[in-house]
Amino acid sequence: MKVPFLDLSIQHQALREQALAALASTYDGTRFCLGKDVETFEENFSKTLGYTRTLGLNSGTSPLHLAAVIAGWGPGDEVIVPAFTFISSAWGVSYVGATPKFVDIDAKTFNLDPAAVEAAITPKTKGIVIVHLFGQPAPMDALLAIAKKHNLFVVEDCAQAVEAKYKGTPVGILGDVGTFSFYPTKNLGGCGEGGALVSKNDAHFDQAKLLRVHGMGRRYYHDQVGFNFRMDGFQGALLNVKLPHLATWTARRQAIAAKYIAGIKLADVILPATVDYGASVYHQFTIRHPRRDALREHLTKHEIGTDLIYPVPLHRQTCYAGLGYAEGSIPVAEKAAATCVSLPIFPELTDAQVDHVIASVNSF
Ligand SMILES: *Cc1c(COP(=O)(O)O)cnc(C)c1O
Repeated sequence: MKVPFLDLSIQHQALREQALAALASTYDGTRFCLGKDVETFEENFSKTLGYTRTLGLNSGTSPLHLAAVIAGWGPGDEVIVPAFTFISSAWGVSYVGATPKFVDIDAKTFNLDPAAVEAAITPKTKGIVIVHLFGQPAPMDALLAIAKKHNLFVVEDCAQAVEAKYKGTPVGILGDVGTFSFYPTKNLGGCGEGGALVSKNDAHFDQAKLLRVHGMGRRYYHDQVGFNFRMDGFQGALLNVKLPHLATWTARRQAIAAKYIAGIKLADVILPATVDYGASVYHQFTIRHPRRDALREHLTKHEIGTDLIYPVPLHRQTCYAGLGYAEGSIPVAEKAAATCVSLPIFPELTDAQVDHVIASVNSF
């Protein structure tokens, strides 16, 4: 039995009629850049997820860039970023000329380790990018307490955690600015690039909105050096079709994860930890094993797709070689990168496929 790591076609075929009708309406109405479809999506996203306002953007990297500008970070400033995440989490910091300070993760949850964060603070530290990695909410109380104590601007990278809640509050508005991605492979994915920014702080939100369109308040009057970060109309239209299904898809991801957690019995395997302060929305189901590559090969033989997310931690990437982090300098993140493998977890997987993954892992 074949189990692809991810198959986007099942979801898109199921929604085909609705999606094409929505896209046709946008096409016929020539609502290509922002426009009504995007506005409707912004309202729907806020209402569905529990935010006051949502800003539709052209990727999940753009809000991280906007957040860095809004925070006022610049050359000479240090910003804490987890060493184990997607590279975008650090991009905003680098784009404004500040320095990412890579910090280790907690061995159980893959999220920032508050003790390591506290130890990394210097007089230059101005902010922190908290990533809710793989859909698992980060330990916000501990991290926000550190941020408050040291007056840090807090960005929540929620690219993998749409619909995740921390003690009942949706992630994204616990810090100063929250960021989302609607890249096609994310839990809520568009038909191309897309992203969003949320904030409970109106001044931050209004600045982001100004920066999104060339720093332009009044037409052709530019108050700040801005960007072109507009969400395109087709993405808004498609996301409006998909958003009503998100809760069902999330529940299915969680049900698959529960099956994996109950069924996988393999010596030396480390399964994703569950936490008492929130439920993961399982963007990934990433396990660890000392013989990861052999396990992966075994699963390939059983026609199961897997992925390495992420094979190289950020502080060991070539683009950050200049920062001088030696091998072994951030050990938990390095060990995670060396032993992790992600199993298929998308809502359209059948129970038989999930059972096949479990049996195949267990037969390793
Ligand atoms: C996907 C992702 C992003 C960036 O999103 P894009 O839409 O690809 O620009 C940022 N952070 C994390 C953790 C991500 O997984």
